[in-house]
Amino acid sequence: MQDPYKVALVGYGKIARDQHIPCIKESPDFELSCLISKSAKVADVPIYGSLVDAFESQESLDAVILCTPPTARLKLTQTAIQNGCAVMLEKPPAVNIAEAKKIVELAEEAQAVVFATWHSRFAAMVDRAVQVMQSNRAAKIKIVWHESVHKWHPGQSWLWEKGAFGVFDMGINALSILTAILPTKYTVTRADFEVPRNLHAPVAAKIELLAAPDIPVQIDLDFLAGELEKWEIAIEFAGGGGIKLFEGGAGLIDESGEAQVDQNKEYQKLYERFSNMIGNGSWDIDTQPLEIVEDAFQIANRTQVAALAF
Ligand code: NAP
Repeated sequence: MQDPYKVALVGYGKIARDQHIPCIKESPDFELSCLISKSAKVADVPIYGSLVDAFESQESLDAVILCTPPTARLKLTQTAIQNGCAVMLEKPPAVNIAEAKKIVELAEEAQAVVFATWHSRFAAMVDRAVQVMQSNRAAKIKIVWHESVHKWHPGQSWLWEKGAFGVFDMGINALSILTAILPTKYTVTRADFEVPRNLHAPVAAKIELLAAPDIPVQIDLDFLAGELEKWEIAIEFAGGGGIKLFEGGAGLIDESGEAQVDQNKEYQKLYERFSNMIGNGSWDIDTQPLEIVEDAFQIANRTQVAALAF
């Protein structure tokens, strides 16, 4: 049996603690060797201030997991690949398309294993929705993605800096599902952003897309949902009827109107896939959800709204 892959995790924040560390501990295929963190003080593995420090300290590593905000991804991916490691990136793969494309080039040149994850694609009912969409033609799609920034991103100032995504940090999860269940070309035809007057990025947005050849997609994103959180994608079919993904893809109302919900194991599935990718030496970097976000930022009408304390 293969020894577990030794991994370094970079960025000991919310998603690292909530999902990655428990999944690594649970997985027979991976073993946490060290953390790269500026804030962690105590852990049951060595903590380094930078990935370069970890490699210079002769840590023997097979893989690096990047749980930082997207701005840091390109440099860290380069360092990991140069040191012969496979890389798993939290979503989105980079802070913009130019950097994401450089990550693709790095993976191609080095024939490195790089997995740019989209965790929502691994929600329980997404595969079933993909199957249903293969035998039905969509006529119209409506996405409502409302969540509480204070609950899921407490105190995260990086979300609001210049060049950051704001509400699209979570909205891009809906786009990752959309582009998986309906793989086609998307054009952003309209975008209206609400930007808090003390911040740089939108806290809410309404977007209109055209999915080729001519399927209108309406998207409503709101980061101030409070208790009224909702993550839904409703698809009307050309021949009548339709389906609705709900609870972020954990649930599906299928063509017969029956609702099914299953427990999400998104991150466990990500680690299973990453292990297979290391085994067969493949890479997977899909930039399409990020391209849609970048296009929306380019054409957006911006309205200033009340300041946001975070
Ligand atoms: P977070 O709690 O702010 O953690 C990010 C960590 O990255 C920080 O704690 C810090 O770790 C490190 N870091 C490195 N450079 C940084 C910088 N310039 N600014 C701030 N932190 C920096 O964020 P998170 O919620 O875990 O999100 C990280 C990534 O996971 C994002 O891309 C996000 O989209 C994705 N994600 C988040 C969630 C969620 O529910 N929050 C869910 C799925 C995916 P050290 O202090 O250890 O150095």
